Amino acid sequence: MDRSDVAADLSSVLLSEEQLQTRLDELAAQIDEDYRGQDLLLVGVLKGAVMVMADLARRLHHSVEMDWMAVSSYGSGTKSSGVVRILKDLDSDLTGRNVLIVEDIIDSGLTLSWLKSNLRSRGPKSVEIATMLRKPEAAKVDVDVRYVGFDIATEFVVGYGLDYAEKYRNLPFVATLAPHVYGG
Ligand code: 5GP
Ligand code: MG
Ligand code: MG
Repeated sequence: MDRSDVAADLSSVLLSEEQLQTRLDELAAQIDEDYRGQDLLLVGVLKGAVMVMADLARRLHHSVEMDWMAVSSYGSGTKSSGVVRILKDLDSDLTGRNVLIVEDIIDSGLTLSWLKSNLRSRGPKSVEIATMLRKPEAAKVDVDVRYVGFDIATEFVVGYGLDYAEKYRNLPFVATLAPHVYGG
């Protein structure tokens, strides 16, 4: 599949590369300020958070550690199953650490609320969440998200780490998919 095939699959660009990167500058500055003089462990949620983790982490002046978890709440489709499984756990001991979960998107909020309480049970000093994107549905779940890149409408999006059937993660922007992609 080359770039022109990809373009045919997209219906519109929701957030440009420049919009994403400008917002990350602001979030990184805020995180630097909030954790000044404190230990910080970034926990990226695979695979979607790879882009935001890489771009956010390199903007921090803080000396951070990075660890990764893989959880699954979606299949290859577009609907939340509500079931969270740990596919890969952290290598780090969280005892006494300041943990910042880094996510690509919060939709129903089910994954994050589950993940936050799971990590909280491991004896950290604090657990906060940073997400690049958040959908309105997320507000229905009682999960406190300290850093949000953009609030977006309830629409299935791809790019900047987000996939549809494992494709489109490498797009540097966030886009909506053309209807023919869903229909097959
Ligand atoms: P939640 O549990 O908050 O409903 O969704 C968590 C996960 O669902 C996200 O980490 C992401 O992997 C996936 N997801 C939710 N909304 C979207 C979307 O619009 N596009 C894509 N590609 N994945 C999504
Ligand atoms: Mg995710
Ligand atoms: Mg996915």
